[in-house]
Amino acid sequence: MKYELQTIPVWDALRKEGECPICNLMQAAEKDSLDFYTGSSVMNPETRVKVNTTGFCPHHLQLLAESGHPQSLAVMLRSVVQQRIADLEKPFSAICSSKPGRATDKAISAFADSVFEHEQGCLICQRMENRLIRYCYTVAVLWDTDVEFRHVLEESKGFCLHHFVRILEISGKALPARTRAEFIHSMAMLEKKGLLHTADDVEWMTQMYKSENDGKDWNGCEDAHIRAAYRMIGKGRIDDEDNKQV
Ligand SMILES: [Zn+2]
Ligand SMILES: [Zn+2]
Repeated sequence: MKYELQTIPVWDALRKEGECPICNLMQAAEKDSLDFYTGSSVMNPETRVKVNTTGFCPHHLQLLAESGHPQSLAVMLRSVVQQRIADLEKPFSAICSSKPGRATDKAISAFADSVFEHEQGCLICQRMENRLIRYCYTVAVLWDTDVEFRHVLEESKGFCLHHFVRILEISGKALPARTRAEFIHSMAMLEKKGLLHTADDVEWMTQMYKSENDGKDWNGCEDAHIRAAYRMIGKGRIDDEDNKQV
């Protein structure tokens, strides 16, 4: 599979402040996807079929519903609800006609499977995962081919732990084994340094709540608790584990 490089967005994200450049890129990717599905694309027959069959996870359907595009969502959801009614016809008649006892439980269980299975698919999660792969791939390629990028990256704060792992995984698609080993070593050192920095910041934040430190300088650690949380799990991250395509 050929991966498309995303040099300019990755460079731009690396130059921005924050705990993780990939988190920043993924927040933009989510916004782009929401715009796509609230725009004129919902009228496209091909998109409509995909929306009806795959749909959206609860997180993204909620964001779409609250995005302030009532007309687009009404058009989209009209056919989604009709499709769901058709899909659920059998499970509905099973729960209504089953005999009391175990048959009822079985029918409810089949109905639940149908509902929960549908919640697993998500067109926005899929689009975001495709972008994530390209961004992680680009980080590895630029580290190998652009001296300036390597320098800026190695002097940066690194990544959130979630995206650090994804970059290491995807680097296998971008680099030959020997170069990859060097890249992984470099990223591991960077990540450890970033984590230690986060730990120092949170430590100083806790110290600042002690009376003996009244009047001392916060050293920019007023929001260390938030940055520590982002460092652990990523900022605004959705659970994309089900959509891995690597
Ligand atoms: Zn991240
Ligand atoms: Zn989703």
